[in-house]
Amino acid sequence: MKLYENISLKHYNTFGIEAIAQNFIEITNYSDLIEIFKSHILQNKNFFILGGGSNVLITDDYNGVVLHPTFKGIEIKEKTDVVVLLKVYAGEVWDDFVDFCVKNNFGGIENLSFIPGNCGAAPVQNIGAFGVEIKDCIESVEIFNLLTGKFITLSNPECNFGYRTSVFKNEYKKNWLIVSTTYKLPKVSHNYKTHYGNLNDELKKYEDINLQSIRQSVINIRTSKLPNPKEIGNAGSFFKNPIVTTEKASELKNKYQDAPVYPISDTEKKLAAGWLIEKSGWKGFKNGNVGVHSKQALVLVNYGNAKGNEIIDLSEKIKESVFEKFGVKLETEVNLL
Ligand SMILES: Cc1cc2nc3c(=O)[nH]c(=O)nc-3n(C[C@H](O)[C@H](O)[C@H](O)COP(=O)(O)OP(=O)(O)OC[C@H]3O[C@@H](n4cnc5c(N)ncnc54)[C@H](O)[C@@H]3O)c2cc1C
Repeated sequence: MKLYENISLKHYNTFGIEAIAQNFIEITNYSDLIEIFKSHILQNKNFFILGGGSNVLITDDYNGVVLHPTFKGIEIKEKTDVVVLLKVYAGEVWDDFVDFCVKNNFGGIENLSFIPGNCGAAPVQNIGAFGVEIKDCIESVEIFNLLTGKFITLSNPECNFGYRTSVFKNEYKKNWLIVSTTYKLPKVSHNYKTHYGNLNDELKKYEDINLQSIRQSVINIRTSKLPNPKEIGNAGSFFKNPIVTTEKASELKNKYQDAPVYPISDTEKKLAAGWLIEKSGWKGFKNGNVGVHSKQALVLVNYGNAKGNEIIDLSEKIKESVFEKFGVKLETEVNLL
């Protein structure tokens, strides 16, 4: 295992926040995991698992150990005429995995193209986009307890996936590292999901609707709407879309006919946080180093040398003003370190 001291995290988070980690361990294989456990290096220490850093906001220097899994690999575990079971390791870049699946004609995750980050983090918040969530393709998740040295494999139902959440944000958050995830994907053409947002319109540019054209359309839409973290620091959606009671959603819809409302159940509906923020006047807001992106109000940005706390202050102001105007509480999606 590779252990470093006083490492700058600026290039390990897509917000581009400068902060120093007291210790930083790169985990390159299974033996590194065992070595970390046997060395007791994490006993009585703060520690945090950092993948691609695209869903974290670093608020200060980190007085502890940052663990960075980089082990790669995609293994075909089983293949039938109709499905394939694929095991992918934590350090694999998520979009490389999507690209691999699309090229091999394995469907199911093409709508999740171009989401930044690594495969180890994907189950943590059950990543989703264009009407698809990875929970629908996950067979199981292999995890390692960094303090007891125990490996276990959780089945899909045991992961308790929900909207931007899972057991890895709750009971299996502390001490557990996701080592690999096994996906079950259809090998033959499946029901493409193309009715979300303007995906259908974008697809009209292509002759056929297939995995490759869906992937390319998703990439086109994402690059036209979302800021590239290499140019402007950000972590994608800063807030979750709020889930409210059906009564609250109807009240809002009566007052604002253009308010997007998505069905969840008879008793609950999902609102669009970006719409609420935009209508509260924040879209395109800029103050010094921080701001709200001009094309997508859900994305907070670091225009230069922002400190994590400046982003937090802005997010609190946005939460207050959305609550004042609509009576809706926004919840932060990004993980704070
Ligand atoms: C421009 C942009 C667009 C985005 N669009 C989307 C989108 O459409 N949909 C979506 O769902 N998300 C989106 N995101 C958020 C982000 O890309 C995903 O949440 C992604 O899965 C995070 O991966 P990561 O490796 O960067 O995780 P990190 O940011 O490094 O970590 C995220 C969380 O997972 C934990 N974690 C990381 N690796 C492991 C591991 N191996 N074991 C256990 N815990 C781990 C961390 O401790 C942390 O709590 C976007 C982000 C950006 C910057």
